[in-house]
Amino acid sequence: MSHTLSRLDFLKTGSLALGAGLTALSGLKPATSASSRPGKAKNIIFLVSDGMSSGTLALADLMKREQFGQTTNWIQLYESKRNFHRGLMDMATLDSTVADSAAAASSWGCGKRINNGALNWGPNAEQHKPIAAIFRDAGKGTGLVTSTRITHATPSGFAINMPSRNQEDEIATQYSERNYDVLLGGGDRHFNPDKRSDNRDLYTTFRSKGYNVVTTKNALSEAPPTGKLLGIFNDSHLPYMVDFNSDAQLQAVTPTLAEMTKSALNRLNSHDNGFILQVEGGRVDHAAHANDAASLVYDQIAFDEAVGVVLDFVDGRDDTLVILTTDHGNANPGLGGRGSGYRESPKLFESLQNYRKSLEWVYEEMGYNWQGPALENVSAAKVREVVEYAAHTQITRDEADMIKESFEWNLRVPFQDRMAPGAVISGVLANYNGVYFIGTNHTADYVEIAAIGPGSDRIPYFVRNTDIFELMVEMADVRAYSTE
Ligand SMILES: [Zn+2]
Repeated sequence: MSHTLSRLDFLKTGSLALGAGLTALSGLKPATSASSRPGKAKNIIFLVSDGMSSGTLALADLMKREQFGQTTNWIQLYESKRNFHRGLMDMATLDSTVADSAAAASSWGCGKRINNGALNWGPNAEQHKPIAAIFRDAGKGTGLVTSTRITHATPSGFAINMPSRNQEDEIATQYSERNYDVLLGGGDRHFNPDKRSDNRDLYTTFRSKGYNVVTTKNALSEAPPTGKLLGIFNDSHLPYMVDFNSDAQLQAVTPTLAEMTKSALNRLNSHDNGFILQVEGGRVDHAAHANDAASLVYDQIAFDEAVGVVLDFVDGRDDTLVILTTDHGNANPGLGGRGSGYRESPKLFESLQNYRKSLEWVYEEMGYNWQGPALENVSAAKVREVVEYAAHTQITRDEADMIKESFEWNLRVPFQDRMAPGAVISGVLANYNGVYFIGTNHTADYVEIAAIGPGSDRIPYFVRNTDIFELMVEMADVRAYSTE
């Protein structure tokens, strides 16, 4: 309560001292230079690596240096002389300090803290106009790009009103009614009449509204360079990069996040009034839940390639605010010190370069579903074969037995959140790759946020999630469209 009061006091003081506008409504810094005057950001590009603990940012950068001799684009920004902001963000939601992606994205999408699981939908069924709709009504271009289903929580948090993120058929229907310009990701199951519960053919609906609809990488590159575009490239999420990198067939049909980002930017850049684009590296979160170190690292690197596309796009222009962040920590992985003087760690970590498959693939090979039920009579030899193939790593008989027992849910673990077979496999593999996770769920960590372009200088070093919404509508001068 005292926190709330002092915040209100601050806001009152702010509005008295500084007049109307941004600083009156939020905790953002006042404009300190001509370059950050409201309205200066014609375009907004918002990049989210979903569920990226700070350890994930470091692991991807360590791997990129080791394997490719380059720092990640994200860390390169920090090493550069460009004018950028860097700080921490408090991602708490209305009902928890640990955010889920729906409420987290909604905090940026509508400027309100709502309950976990909801999309721009308050606890009393209030519907808050999401930022993509605000930009659309202001005559700006709108785009969402993700490696998850396009109906998943993070893109939806910028674009959709729904009581539950799980209503993905309804979310797809709402997309078809909202006239956003570019939607690229996975999720055929929610557009295809053979897969939807109501058998509606949403592709036909989109086409009748003037969208080009594409489902392959080639069709994406051959689509007309202007006009509305729906690109759905998989039944569910796009593949993990570890699986993608080892599968020529997937590479032939599936665009990367960077390719989708480039395509979206080319299109949106033709809007005279500017645009908003959200880009999500969504499977970083899934890899963290799964405790899949190789997938985590390579999906974060793929996200970082999209960061590179965006940083190139804004190079030399001063009309685009870029925000680079994550919605919450997840499972907080890290490379631990191993061996005498910790000297074994770098070598162990390097072994991730040889991984051939994700843990999702391991589950499929074992015939195990993400949420169970437990398997019966698992063969330890089979476990060994599958895990050793995926990780290119020899494990011991004892370790294979532990994994077998975890598939059978017949294993004692001290922390229940690590009872998933994936957590047990990753614990075994940590003996060989050095990367360990604290659990299988999101965490309350304050998250990394970086920004560049007009308005980035207004972000405090420690910022509340909802203030980023205020920043975006103010810098793009679209507040007039923020109510229906
Ligand atoms: Zn998650």
